[in-house]
Amino acid sequence: MKIKLILAFFIFKLGFAQHRTCGMEQQMQRIMADPQLKEQYLDLQQQFENELQRLSNSNESKSTAATIRIPVAVHYPSVVASATNASLRSCLILLAQKQVAILNADYNATNSDLSNWVNDQDFYPDTNYGNMNVVFEIATLNHPTGTGLGFPTNGNPAITFGTDFLSNADTDSTWAGYCNLVVRNLTSGILGYSPLGGSPSSGMTVVIDNNSFSTSLSGSPSACLGYVPSPPFNLGRTLTHELGHFFNLDHTFKACDGSNCATSGDKVCDTPSADTPYYNCDPSGSVSTNCGTTQLTMNYMDYVEDSCMYMFTQGQVNRMTAWSNIIGSQLNMNTLANNEFINTNFSIVPNPSKGIFSIQLKEQIGNYSVSIIDSLGREIYNMDFNQNSDLIQSIQIDNALSGLYFVTIKSNGATLTKKILVK
Ligand SMILES: [Zn+2]
Repeated sequence: MKIKLILAFFIFKLGFAQHRTCGMEQQMQRIMADPQLKEQYLDLQQQFENELQRLSNSNESKSTAATIRIPVAVHYPSVVASATNASLRSCLILLAQKQVAILNADYNATNSDLSNWVNDQDFYPDTNYGNMNVVFEIATLNHPTGTGLGFPTNGNPAITFGTDFLSNADTDSTWAGYCNLVVRNLTSGILGYSPLGGSPSSGMTVVIDNNSFSTSLSGSPSACLGYVPSPPFNLGRTLTHELGHFFNLDHTFKACDGSNCATSGDKVCDTPSADTPYYNCDPSGSVSTNCGTTQLTMNYMDYVEDSCMYMFTQGQVNRMTAWSNIIGSQLNMNTLANNEFINTNFSIVPNPSKGIFSIQLKEQIGNYSVSIIDSLGREIYNMDFNQNSDLIQSIQIDNALSGLYFVTIKSNGATLTKKILVK
């Protein structure tokens, strides 16, 4: 009896193993089986190799490179867009915004757990973390019509509900030009999938399981019905991982490097060679690979739990930057607010600051709002200003900790996000 119970326990544990599983490889098999998609894929990869080469030869410095803006649309196909679902839809909009804030932190190396690298880097002398200098923004203008948008007018986010969007396909030309995130119930234990080197021009998507998208909301509501991030994949990093694939990153455990690390394994030279995924959360530097290296367990492109991954390498960022340069012309930038007016009218001084700064306007405008999100995706400030406000508006972040913050100014349906540094 006792043995049976123990056996049953182990079977139960095996059956519900909490391991990250990603469907990128299967997705690529589907793409390569389609002659048209295969041709497009091979063509883009060729352009990518040329761009990667150009960047490595050029003196383009990351510090002077312009911030890359990526218009994002989020799709919840299973949520009925009815009036009775209004509170759920509002909740899911918050969930999407929180997920995008996590992306911005992870891709700009402003995530707070990156501080672990100070101690961990000793195990990886040839590796540096990278910062992509990118802003993911949920699009707010010129939405496609008749597409299940919760709020279709300009100024509202490109978030759809309950349409037959995709109906389990993985591209939708209606949404060409966006970085499309689809949140749905995935089976087979897969947490998410993306093409390797995604193409916005054909409306390709990144798909995330409904229990691995974003992270718990603070305050009320604390969770959206049916979309509860489930530990250990509840910090929004399944999307960080899958979008890495969309920007043409392979798994760090692809294969042991051959004689040329730039053409074998994951084709990134500053990620230690590995051929097996790592799942757990053991101390950094403690996992040896079959390739004679130390596994870079905290990398977003391995399979560890959300709380134990915290960095891209500089080599990975170089590849993602090259990919974003290739697909940049495919992005539909007129879906992002702005732009010229709000961008030139607002300035934030000083930056960096100690947490006290001013928003300065060149000319008087209508109402506007200011919100500030910290690197954990928490909104720490939100204020509306009416048109009688001064041209200079002083803002203070209470008990400001050092780090990067995202200041979002909304005005007349336009949205501007600027990064500020608190020292
Ligand atoms: Zn993956």
